[in-house]
Amino acid sequence: MEVKYEGSKLILPEITCNCGMHHAKPDMDIYIGKGIIAQSVDFIAQRDFGKNVVVVTDQTLYQIAAKNVESRLQAAGYQVTLCCLEREMPLIPDERALGEILLAVDNDTDFLIAVGSGSITDVTRYVAHRTQKPFVCIGTAPSMDGYTSVIAPLTLGNLKVNKPAGYPKVLICDLEIMADAPYKMLIAGFGDVLGKHIAKADWLLGNIINDEPVCPDCIALTSQAVQKCVDNIEEIKNRTEQGIQSLIEGLILAGLTILIIGNTRPVASNEHGIAHYWEMMKLLKGEEPPSHGISVGVATVYAVAFFEYFLQQDPSAFNIECAQAACISKAERTAIIKEKYGEKIGAAILRDNPSDFLDWEEQYRRFQKITTNMDRIRNELAFLPTTRQVKDMFVRLGAPYLAGDIDINDELLLNGLIYAKDYRSRYTVFKSANELGVLQDIINRVIHSIK
Ligand SMILES: [Zn+2]
Ligand SMILES: [Zn+2]
Repeated sequence: MEVKYEGSKLILPEITCNCGMHHAKPDMDIYIGKGIIAQSVDFIAQRDFGKNVVVVTDQTLYQIAAKNVESRLQAAGYQVTLCCLEREMPLIPDERALGEILLAVDNDTDFLIAVGSGSITDVTRYVAHRTQKPFVCIGTAPSMDGYTSVIAPLTLGNLKVNKPAGYPKVLICDLEIMADAPYKMLIAGFGDVLGKHIAKADWLLGNIINDEPVCPDCIALTSQAVQKCVDNIEEIKNRTEQGIQSLIEGLILAGLTILIIGNTRPVASNEHGIAHYWEMMKLLKGEEPPSHGISVGVATVYAVAFFEYFLQQDPSAFNIECAQAACISKAERTAIIKEKYGEKIGAAILRDNPSDFLDWEEQYRRFQKITTNMDRIRNELAFLPTTRQVKDMFVRLGAPYLAGDIDINDELLLNGLIYAKDYRSRYTVFKSANELGVLQDIINRVIHSIK
């Protein structure tokens, strides 16, 4: 699956596998290239959205990119309403931001343009969806895989809410603008891509243990995305055109799998669960959480170490009493989740994942399945890098890789590693370890080994 272009337009990957899952073809024009912001109006005009547009940005990105787009639109006869989300602090995608955009949109608005990265795209995505208007995204940083997503992670009060929304019909990534993004956004993008290793491993594991369907083409896309970034660490660090292009291509290829199979299974598993746990707990305490991709990158280091210890186990040593001791009642599980996630988030998790409680019969089935399939598991997951290799990548990139580096204390680290598996019913190696009764033991080893 080579990435191909027609000019600066990315040719969407052709999905031909017969995995049995439905594969959608995204209706999306993606442009990646140096200096292409100058052609943004031509790209947009090809879609005939109309001439009345709301441009959403913030005060910094207005100077960097949105002002340029605004004047080009005006020169081409568009009526532009500017919605500049001015903030002292980093923008939070919350009810206030949504309200400001909503008030900039009226009946005559034909479409919206988000000029920004994660948060600006997400708030625009949600308002466009709710007002049933198309939107365009002019990405300003290769910081996350959400440009092609259909979920808007938003904040209400200090709770995280994931709302269904739409994807941009046109996505424009100017490599010159992206190369000038703050370095921590590049690190975040790298972390978000690297996490796909864990998503892939957990998905294959779900297939082995629970016959969960997998899509080989989606796995090929995310594998290619990771490889692009891993092969270009020096280039990313030096912000060369090749480095920035491989990073944004990796993020877009991975993100496209969400549109192709309609859920985030190919791109997010327990590394995202851990990152979300840290983020939610920080928000509950009124503290600023680390950015998404940076958390995912750090969580990936711990998850890789977890896999490493898990795969080293000798199945003949698996002990049925240990597994039984890990089998708790529904009432106990409910109490733990509410305690560790807080009453409100805990209740939402329990409501959204009703099938996640295992009785002993099902746990025993999984215990047997893992025990008798360890060789196959080791073979299929042999692609995983070692902890040392992943740490080296972060060091070469000059990126944080310890929880403490990103202001996650020991308690948050430990709780994230133990309880992220309960965040959703999606199968992960942390669930496998819990079903075998070895979760705590492996976590202790992971925490001691990563310093
Ligand atoms: Zn992510
Ligand atoms: Zn498939």
